[in-house]
Amino acid sequence: MINPNEALNLIQGLIVPQQVQNVAIQDAIGLILAEDLSADRDFPPFNRAMMDGIAINNTAIKKWLIEDIAFAGEPQKQLSNSDAAVEIMTGAPVPLECSSIIKIEDIVFFELAGEKWAEYVGLDTIKQGQFVHAQASDCKQNDLILSSGTKIGPVEIAIAATIGKSELSVLKKPGIAIFSTGDEIVGIHEKPEAHQIRSSNSVMLESVLKSHGFSTTVAHIKDEKSVVEKSLESALEKHEILLLSGGVSAGKKDFIPEVLAELGFKPVFHKIAQKPGKPLYVGNRADGRLVFAFPGNPISTLTCFWIYFLPWLLGNKLILSTIPVVNLPASNPKLDQWLPVKIKGGQAETLKNNGSGDLFHWKFADGLVWQKAGSTDQSLPFFPLRP
Ligand code: AMP
Ligand code: MG
Repeated sequence: MINPNEALNLIQGLIVPQQVQNVAIQDAIGLILAEDLSADRDFPPFNRAMMDGIAINNTAIKKWLIEDIAFAGEPQKQLSNSDAAVEIMTGAPVPLECSSIIKIEDIVFFELAGEKWAEYVGLDTIKQGQFVHAQASDCKQNDLILSSGTKIGPVEIAIAATIGKSELSVLKKPGIAIFSTGDEIVGIHEKPEAHQIRSSNSVMLESVLKSHGFSTTVAHIKDEKSVVEKSLESALEKHEILLLSGGVSAGKKDFIPEVLAELGFKPVFHKIAQKPGKPLYVGNRADGRLVFAFPGNPISTLTCFWIYFLPWLLGNKLILSTIPVVNLPASNPKLDQWLPVKIKGGQAETLKNNGSGDLFHWKFADGLVWQKAGSTDQSLPFFPLRP
């Protein structure tokens, strides 16, 4: 049986199944770009005024006759007298024959013989080219600006918009079908008989995945082999990943590994030397479909999902910081253990609990510590449960 480290390495080697699709730019945030984007024009596309003020050519004089006014949204104007100026607004094209902008705070306007003039009252020397956002100084037409594989954030959305892309080619997140299994399981809204329990696993998986923007379907299957087979087969037509809870242990009705083999899956591994979650099954198929089948006890499903599945799906490497642990029980000689802990004053305190079927003591847990088989370490890697 492999240990958790080996399992994590095997899972890291699996590719998250993704397909390319076009989405509206408004829906692309958080996704991975699947095309290269180039500038459709120079940026800025013209010499752009960066300040409200005046545009001038002659920087050696201190008074300029105002001969025109340039607003943002108007075509480029032209200075005719090189000792004169054009009043200008931020965002307007700098007039032809003008080299520099003087900001409004550094000038006073005055009237002389019915004409408008501006006088320089600033303290700094006027620099050639000041406050002109020069054409193509950010990037040139046809420059590659965003490469395929880039994660799309707010800046990328704005860049795509400015180059006129209303749709983007992106990697589609995999569709995930969630199944709970078991004859003893009923839905949340049902009133269980004395021997039945409500499914907590499926809604836990569904809600976490939904919070990360994945689309999921949820269904329940009884422990009947032909029904299990039919349900999984039809889910695999539309979904890249199956998440199952229950039916992977050694019980007489634990059909999942058998059915998956019949559907063409090969185990990446089945069983890890760990507690909880020993029977975890991970399998893949030649067409790229993947299955993570978690043992049904709520804490087993939660631990396997949180440690092995979610970081892999989100492309995050599992990085655990080490923390001193108090009330640490002796390690198991053969199995690594994931122990629930509460953090207090920089230390982790292990929590009393009744094993992997006991959800309720976990409400106090801030996370898990990882105690390796046979270890005597009193400081252990910590994995937060509340991100
Ligand atoms: P299994 O892995 O199928 O042997 O299931 C082990 C135990 O997990 C069962 O006896 C149930 O108590 C519990 N269990 C299985 N499925 C679920 C579920 N969907 N939600 C909550 N508990 C479950
Ligand atoms: Mg079962």
